[in-house]
Amino acid sequence: MTGMTRPPLNRRLAGFGTTIFAEMSALAARTGAINLGQGFPDTDGPEEIREAAVRALRDGRGNQYPPGPGVPELRTAIADHQRRRYGLEYDPDTEVLVTAGATEGIAAALLALVEPGDEVIALEPYYDSYAACVAMAGGTRVPVTLRPHEGSYVLDLDELRAAVTDRTRLILLNTPHNPTGTVLTRAELAAVAELAVERDLLVVTDEVYEHLVFDGAEHVPLATFPGMRERTVTLSSSGKTFSFTGWKVGWAVADAPLIAAVRTAKQYLTYVSAGPFQYAIAEALRLPDAYFDGFRADLRRRRDLLGDGLRAAGFEVYVPRGTYFITTDITPLGEEDAHAFCRSLPERCGVVAIPNSVFYDDPATGRGQVRFTFCKRKEVLDEAVARLQRLAL
Ligand code: PMP
Ligand code: GLN
Repeated sequence: MTGMTRPPLNRRLAGFGTTIFAEMSALAARTGAINLGQGFPDTDGPEEIREAAVRALRDGRGNQYPPGPGVPELRTAIADHQRRRYGLEYDPDTEVLVTAGATEGIAAALLALVEPGDEVIALEPYYDSYAACVAMAGGTRVPVTLRPHEGSYVLDLDELRAAVTDRTRLILLNTPHNPTGTVLTRAELAAVAELAVERDLLVVTDEVYEHLVFDGAEHVPLATFPGMRERTVTLSSSGKTFSFTGWKVGWAVADAPLIAAVRTAKQYLTYVSAGPFQYAIAEALRLPDAYFDGFRADLRRRRDLLGDGLRAAGFEVYVPRGTYFITTDITPLGEEDAHAFCRSLPERCGVVAIPNSVFYDDPATGRGQVRFTFCKRKEVLDEAVARLQRLAL
């Protein structure tokens, strides 16, 4: 490395070190703590879907490069899913694109749609790849902060409206929202839609938790609102819905010109991925309603188990209406620095969590906020809850 005077990482990515999920999963592995940090289930999804992947592998389906936009079986299943669930019509050939998880969908959409200097509005706290992808696209991130109000995080529509400038290109929306668990209501989404139409903005919506909603909350895709189909790129993924996060099968649906744009970027990122798994997810999307209802009901029970345990341990709990995360406030425990708290938690009680402070432009805004996932087996959550009670002593 002699003679290298410039740091290797370029300026756009300076400041983006290791993701918090990798950092905290490594901490869990090192200390043997229960990992309630990174959101991945500790049980695999439906056996018949795993078998469908095995069958595809054995039958030689998808073992070589699949078609760039994804295998036709999956694109058709995605289009059928959007129609059956939401009454949205998309042409599987021109308006559906399979991606390497929603992560690639986010990257491809931003790289395709954002010009250097464009402003991108994102709800804060935001999923960490948003900031990095806006930066890679040369855009400027403009956060609109969800704030705690009567036990949950809410969007201030006036603040959103005020954030739009002549340089705003798109809104990057995430509902159900990671990490807060907020599910935007129909009225809030209608207001976002009106704003997008009025100011001629594109919207990229990240709906990876579309099926994980509780307590009667309803997930409504923004693309269903008037004037939105032609300006919305809807992203989703099979990872959370079917508990196969490692397969990385995601998708984008949008009007043909938007999909053509996103595909242009996508083909130079991975080109294609996950061949055999695409066939298996095509089957998963056709599972009966009982699967989705059962998964949701089961997750809700686990949410309540962890939420009650966190409350008993002294946390303030923001009850999520969607996703598989609970955001808590640690200040009632006499703590104030989420990152320091999360670093010390394995030693103090053998549990790992995620500091939400890293999801804010100014970490001070989320200084007392910590996220726990409840997508783990009941016995693991029971043990984590028992351990967390040490904080209450
Ligand atoms: N968006 C959000 C809000 C997420 O929480 C995640 C992580 N599951 C992703 C995107 C990435 O999804 P995938 O694993 O399909 O790439
Ligand atoms: N989406 C997962 C979470 O929020 C993490 C995915 C990742 O590690 N990139 O925990």
